[in-house]
Amino acid sequence: MGIIVTKFGGTSVADAIQAKKTQEIIEADADRKFIVVSAPGKRFDADNKITDLLLLLFTHLEQNAPYEQIFQVVKDRFIDIERALGIDAGITAAFDVIEKKLKEGATKDYLASRGEYLSGRIFAALLGIDFIDAAGIVLFNEKGRFLSEETNAALAAELEKHERGVIPGFYGSLPNGEIKTFSRGGSDITGAIVARAISADVYENWTDVSGFLVADPRIVKNPKAIDQISYKELRELSYMGASVLHENAIYPARLAGIPINIRNTNAPTERGTFIVAGEKETEGRIITGIAGSKDFTVIAIYKNMMSSETGFIRRVLSIMEDYGIPIEHIPSGVDTVSIVIADKYLDDKLGDIIEDIERKTQADTVEVFEKMALIATVGSRMAARKGVSAKLFTALYEADVNVRMIDQGSSEMNIIIGVENNDFETAIRAIYDAFANE
Ligand code: ADP
Ligand code: ASP
Ligand code: MG
Repeated sequence: MGIIVTKFGGTSVADAIQAKKTQEIIEADADRKFIVVSAPGKRFDADNKITDLLLLLFTHLEQNAPYEQIFQVVKDRFIDIERALGIDAGITAAFDVIEKKLKEGATKDYLASRGEYLSGRIFAALLGIDFIDAAGIVLFNEKGRFLSEETNAALAAELEKHERGVIPGFYGSLPNGEIKTFSRGGSDITGAIVARAISADVYENWTDVSGFLVADPRIVKNPKAIDQISYKELRELSYMGASVLHENAIYPARLAGIPINIRNTNAPTERGTFIVAGEKETEGRIITGIAGSKDFTVIAIYKNMMSSETGFIRRVLSIMEDYGIPIEHIPSGVDTVSIVIADKYLDDKLGDIIEDIERKTQADTVEVFEKMALIATVGSRMAARKGVSAKLFTALYEADVNVRMIDQGSSEMNIIIGVENNDFETAIRAIYDAFANE
């Protein structure tokens, strides 16, 4: 007998039909002792995620706008699930508590977390096992920073008291007891920290695709699934935008050496993807996966003899630090250096930044490329194979994609390119077609 921690994402708990599939999966293996659930997600494309509705509810409250209708929509969805499953999870009473809190001035995080809280209550009742609230055991400091070791100790002590249980994902609490959430998609993190605290044999992450796919299925039609991937490769892909698993869910599992198995609630017999410590050596596809995101700005700085000037890059970086802007990449050439920044951090600061760079570095020219997308082609086997770059750039050339920036990590595990936002999808498809059938 072992212990499996299973996390079910929004689509796996979206309604009673999905909840039944989830129940079947859990009950098919007695090792599935601790269950982490998300808030109900979309039931169909145009549907709303409960978390989005709750955040909208908060915006209405904040603006003193009527909120009753949204509140009712959220309530109806949970009542419908409870009723269709034929259980009593105390949902009506729980909504009375939420409404009371709401009138007293509930925080954004408190409201956002209620989707997971109520989903947890439903699954505990459905499975007839304990409900273990995450508040008080998933811990953040007063500044809202996640306390990994304190949480591990508190969780381990609590889980020991239960043979089985359902833990709501996505949130925990601050030292004063107030609710604090992780960033969006954070139930994946809860799953990983629960797996670590209970020393699980496997952390199963059940979603709506048959594992981690070589490329985003919304861009490439029917991409192949990745059979096995290392934590390191996955971290690169998640960070670059493959949204299957929250990037911060990897660290706790990796630390404890617990394999993560991504699986499909709608196709439970499929094996899914295993995320493990070791890298598969020379066998298999050259590339493991492709991921990327849009909306970056590249600032390219040229200065004659830059390479022999000391402190040049430091001066550029300190300007970015002054503006509190994290830097994504710093590709450089002999007398050039480029800074890649995600637009979400830039606001309207670009003009001021350029001016500062020109003044403080005496650069010859500063060029700005906006509306750029970054794409990472990741694979631990890439370094050992000849001709990977040639193949990649030929494919992009043939697809008529203009590559504006190239950055290859020193680990040689990935090649990152910058293309225009408009070319993003075409570029991903071209790279996929060039490598997927290896
Ligand atoms: P959950 O609600 O179960 O946490 P998410 O929506 O967070 O699920 O993640 C699963 C989704 O991630 C898929 O439906 C798919 O559209 C998207 N996705 C993006 N890139 C990939 C990829 N490389 N492999 C699989 N899914 C991907
Ligand atoms: N419900 C939260 C979200 O939509 C957390 C999660 O699903 O992981 O972001
Ligand atoms: Mg998710």
